[in-house]
Amino acid sequence: MRFVISPAEPVCLKIAGSEDLFPVNRAFCIGRNYADHAIEMGGNPDREEPFFFMKPASAIIPSGGRLPYPSATENLHHEVELVVAIARGGGDIPVEGALDCVFGYAVGIDLTRRDLQEVAKKAGRPWDMAKGFDASGPIGTLTPVATCGHVADAAISLSVGGAVRQSGNVNQMIWKTAEAIAYLSRLVEIRPGDLMFTGTPAGVGPIARGERVHCEIAGLVPMDCQLV
Ligand code: MN
Repeated sequence: MRFVISPAEPVCLKIAGSEDLFPVNRAFCIGRNYADHAIEMGGNPDREEPFFFMKPASAIIPSGGRLPYPSATENLHHEVELVVAIARGGGDIPVEGALDCVFGYAVGIDLTRRDLQEVAKKAGRPWDMAKGFDASGPIGTLTPVATCGHVADAAISLSVGGAVRQSGNVNQMIWKTAEAIAYLSRLVEIRPGDLMFTGTPAGVGPIARGERVHCEIAGLVPMDCQLV
């Protein structure tokens, strides 16, 4: 096969305990999946239908590290999230079989240009430039299910400059991982390599240039990054 330009290199996540890599296909993200965060964003914490937005694979930054502070925002927010990596795809996946699709889990940050998102919300415009900009999705090393089991009850936290800003438990997710996969698979055919950001607990807030961000989910590999 010959291409008129060089095809993009796959974006790959590291895997704990392995030299092999996980190639990223797409990243889906659930909005408002923790009641306390839904309330802080002015939403209704009741179990409304889940909604999804996306980040392109090119926005994923494996292992965090030094990230460029994005252009066009004065209010970059952190949202620490459990990220699910899919090994086996399909459509109309039943809830009961949905966890069989999971390769493993990682901690990630859904970086958000909150100011642009507010404008988009008010105008009824898409969120893409608020959520899917370059380097908007740092994700730590993946831990395979065979090592960590399914992550359903685990402390999740994010600190900025050593001060804890977000602290919760993934058991507070309104739509659980299996339910979210099943729901998404009725909207699109899920494919191997897809990722899902599963929502953030309360405490989202701004990150300034140069600040160090540390995030953890119990049982998974922590991730550090710095916006420079
Ligand atoms: Mn989010």
